[in-house]
Amino acid sequence: MKNLSEELLVKPGSTPKLHKIDPSGTHGWGSKTAAAKQFQKNLDLLSVNQYRLYAENRRALLIVLQGIDAGGKDGTVRHVMAGFNPQGASVTSFKVPAGEEKQHDYLWRVHKAVPKFGEIGIFNRSHYEDVLVVRVHNLVPAHVWKKRYDQINNFEQMLHENGVHIVKFFLYIDRDEQKRRFEARIEDSAKNWKFSPADIEERKFWNDYTKAFEEAMEKCSKPWAPWYVIPANKKWFRNLAVSEVLVRTLEDMNLKYPKPAEGLDKLKFE
Ligand code: ADP
Repeated sequence: MKNLSEELLVKPGSTPKLHKIDPSGTHGWGSKTAAAKQFQKNLDLLSVNQYRLYAENRRALLIVLQGIDAGGKDGTVRHVMAGFNPQGASVTSFKVPAGEEKQHDYLWRVHKAVPKFGEIGIFNRSHYEDVLVVRVHNLVPAHVWKKRYDQINNFEQMLHENGVHIVKFFLYIDRDEQKRRFEARIEDSAKNWKFSPADIEERKFWNDYTKAFEEAMEKCSKPWAPWYVIPANKKWFRNLAVSEVLVRTLEDMNLKYPKPAEGLDKLKFE
């Protein structure tokens, strides 16, 4: 099997060029059926590893999901979460800061949502919004958001050094695919609540978002918190690719069940 983790990794220190990556790419996976089989296997492996993480209770896994609108963050959460026991996993969706969030620094709400030891946390959007939407729409001056890359790196390094393993995914679709998905949302009564006319406005900023994503990944893909670009036009490949990287990440953590209590083998039951 190809090593998708290595192929999709934004190598620390490199500059990702999104126009050189094919959002419909499948990295040698020719058929949806073969991919679906591997995906199911991966879900089983995720489940086993989550149980070890829970039993060990000393480290956590934080999964960051970012993407352009309609990139498939919700779908990825739904599919990948199927591999996890909800007792020990959480999803946090970050919206426009409101209430108390607005009265704190931008990392405050993020730090509060970091998963506990033994658990897995998924961020549907994250602190990266503060160098993406905030940058694209000039919500703070440039000299403020430019400092955030270092701040984010320091924050993530601190988490890693204290047991929180981090993996970050950029779900990459192209403009045509976004258009198709928006149209599908408008037509489907079960989905049109997801569509807002503001989405059309955001589309105009496509190039600015591309630049902002590239810079965020260039500056913040680190050995302790790597970024992966997931070609996401094909949902079946997206699900497979995310699951492959997660399996690899958890296996690299070398999770072990704690040692049993001493004398357990000599216990006798009446
Ligand atoms: P989603 O698109 O994630 O399903 P929404 O439609 O509610 O959910 O969109 C959430 C919105 O919140 C997005 O437009 C996103 O850019 C915005 N957002 C998230 N974090 C921030 C932030 N820190 N500052 C400004 N806007 C943010």
